[in-house]
Amino acid sequence: MLTKKDLKTPIEINWCPGCGNFGIHKAFTDAVVQSGWDNTNSVVVAGIGCHGHIVNFVKLTSFEGLHGRPIPVASGVKMSNSRLNVFVFTGDGDCLAEGGNHFVNGARRNQDITVILHDNAVYGLTTGQTSPRSPQGYKSKSTPAGNIDEPINPLSLALAAGATFLGRVYAGNAKAATEMIIKANEHRGFSVIQVLQPCIIFNKQYTHAYYRENIYELDDNHDKTDKQAAFAKTLEWGLKKIPVGIFYQVEEPTCESQIPQIKNKPLIEIPVKRNLNKLFNKFI
Ligand code: SF4
Repeated sequence: MLTKKDLKTPIEINWCPGCGNFGIHKAFTDAVVQSGWDNTNSVVVAGIGCHGHIVNFVKLTSFEGLHGRPIPVASGVKMSNSRLNVFVFTGDGDCLAEGGNHFVNGARRNQDITVILHDNAVYGLTTGQTSPRSPQGYKSKSTPAGNIDEPINPLSLALAAGATFLGRVYAGNAKAATEMIIKANEHRGFSVIQVLQPCIIFNKQYTHAYYRENIYELDDNHDKTDKQAAFAKTLEWGLKKIPVGIFYQVEEPTCESQIPQIKNKPLIEIPVKRNLNKLFNKFI
């Protein structure tokens, strides 16, 4: 079983001190150690953005895809070996702008992967431009007169598209985030965790103090299997009105469980019956 020390890479973590990404990194590495995930059973895929650097800071089999494309890469990984725990790290720009189509269709297909969405409501890596999660009126170098668009609500969107596990946590609560990541991975189906991840350099609105003041825990009165109740909760946002916890969780057939060729055995364990050398040689 891996320890936290085993997960360290030689690369120094270079996120800005105080960035919410540190909480996500701690939460994930704690989850890896607690759950016994390692290179034999788990793969990490990330997109492009500050979040994507996580592949440099966690020593696990990983792949950093093109901007907006971590979900299709993760989808390919899962299709080839459905026994793997597959984790997608993505930012709000990466996931909801460049990768919006993949997010919707990943949810629709209910593939058994876990999407950890670093939501800082800006494009941090490229110095703070307005993102699909920036609030209306938000001023940045890309919208100096104020953002005219309504932000995308990732949990409402994923719920409408067919995701079967929806959670939200604040990056400053790494313990809750660890528990959420473990539960999302245990869930069989497309799981989305929206992590409220303050970008302390560029987003002066959604700060650590803002989230500490305005989040509240969903309690036992919330029925996680009630789609309409979940939808209503995903639409709540504002002063003292940002719910965190599990919004929705239901069991539905996963994509992999419905494909006859892989429903009982991962693709990599099925012998190739045809000689493919001729085909491969075409591409050499
Ligand atoms: Fe974090 Fe923002 Fe710095 Fe990126 S720019 S590392 S999101 S604080």
